[in-house]
Amino acid sequence: MATADIVICGAGLAGISAAYHLTAKRSISNVLVIDERPPMTLTSDKSTECYRNWWPGPGDTMVRFINHSIDLLEEMAAESGNFFGLNRRGYVFLTADPARVESFKEAAKIISGLGAGPIRYHKPGQSTYQPSSPEGFESPLTGADLLFGSELIRQYYPFVTEDVIAMLNPRRCGWLSAQQLGMYMFDLAKANGAQFLSGKVSGISVQGGRIHGVEVESESGASMVHTNTFINAAGPFVKEIGEMMGIDLPVFNELHGKISFADPLGVVPREVPLMIWSDPVSLPWSDDERQDLCAYEDTQWLLEEFPAGVHFRPEGLGHSRVLLILWTYDVEEQKVVLPPQFDQFYPEIVLRGLTRMIPGLSAYINKMGRPVVDGGYYCKTQENRPLIGPLPLEGAYILGAVSGYGVMAGPAAGELLAAHVVGADIPDYAPQFRLERYNDLEYQKMLASWDATSGQL
Ligand SMILES: Cc1cc2nc3c(=O)[nH]c(=O)nc-3n(C[C@H](O)[C@H](O)[C@H](O)COP(=O)(O)OP(=O)(O)OC[C@H]3O[C@@H](n4cnc5c(N)ncnc54)[C@H](O)[C@@H]3O)c2cc1C
Repeated sequence: MATADIVICGAGLAGISAAYHLTAKRSISNVLVIDERPPMTLTSDKSTECYRNWWPGPGDTMVRFINHSIDLLEEMAAESGNFFGLNRRGYVFLTADPARVESFKEAAKIISGLGAGPIRYHKPGQSTYQPSSPEGFESPLTGADLLFGSELIRQYYPFVTEDVIAMLNPRRCGWLSAQQLGMYMFDLAKANGAQFLSGKVSGISVQGGRIHGVEVESESGASMVHTNTFINAAGPFVKEIGEMMGIDLPVFNELHGKISFADPLGVVPREVPLMIWSDPVSLPWSDDERQDLCAYEDTQWLLEEFPAGVHFRPEGLGHSRVLLILWTYDVEEQKVVLPPQFDQFYPEIVLRGLTRMIPGLSAYINKMGRPVVDGGYYCKTQENRPLIGPLPLEGAYILGAVSGYGVMAGPAAGELLAAHVVGADIPDYAPQFRLERYNDLEYQKMLASWDATSGQL
């Protein structure tokens, strides 16, 4: 029987970050990471790889947590010669709806007040707005810029629809290569003693009320790894792993897809930020298409209004023309099916939806070739906050439910989990992420008016 000081189930970004912090930062060398897949290949390589310090309340917990994670990302980028291509291009939210302008102003005021940085207002004729630099991550700009008026917005983003009226541009945001970040942290973890075992965690042995070992099925058969410390970082499978310990974790999964699609006409300049259309959208159809869709019950929904939130960013360096586009218009709890199955209309819908923000992309309607569709599951709690910390079984921990923010939160989440394991100081927001929070009656009351899409794009 093999022995490890700590066993981590899951070599996605969460498990790898925990391994990195335990080994490279906390000097625990006998850490074993077990995964039935190659590292970073289930959810963590399907992400849009973006980050933002722009998070709603309640309270400043998420702003502080992600701000700290971005600090760690910047530290690692600086020490590695930016091995994982961190940029700071910002996020840009756009609206053509006068009613939403007020909600942009309100959100900006609130989130700025939570610690995301100052707000700068720009009107035509009195604007000092400067778009973010496309490369590098060292800009001192935080907070957000609010721009008013189509002319001013289109001065910087001329490809955006003429009827746009307001733009909210949070600055401490951008993207990176999640795969490279994962490999960077995993290489350092391995250099400091971590080991990887290819296999499926099939059971957890508990003796005397504490973790005793982990059962593993691998190519060489079933085996047991003896350990007193086990970290559940199994992504969309954290609930199943919890059941192996008799712990019911309050999480569920949502499927989110994205398409990668080429823009050979160069409709969108390559240096733009992540851009989000904040209004609901009715898809553009020709009269003939409309008639056809109307004729069948199973296609009539395509004529209805779709929710806000279609977004995109350019992907790739050099001569790349690829755009990544995302739009989860049907957010719902789902059973995990692998590989994930996406709606046959998904690419068509996201492209047509995006033409509301960027009319020039209409050039690709019915001519988009074969876009690549992929994605994965957001594992979530009911209030869209993570689970990080000890479980009610001695020696058991969880690092999971990191939803659609597990890349940006990864560094701080792994650091926090490692601090719990070694008994080091933890930040004062740490209790907000522990499973125990659900035992608090005040917290339960707050949950009644808290949405599982809180802070989700
Ligand atoms: C379309 C999409 C876009 C996204 N965009 C962003 C974004 O822009 N920014 C951001 O921060 N986040 C984003 N995310 C979210 C982010 O990708 C996830 O939060 C993150 O990757 C989760 O990491 P993880 O390590 O928890 O899970 P995973 O990467 O799924 O890793 C879990 C691992 O556990 C292993 N495992 C499970 N069960 C077992 C078992 N029994 N035995 C052995 N191994 C097991 C799996 O094989 C897997 O490798 C996005 C996600 C999707 C799907």
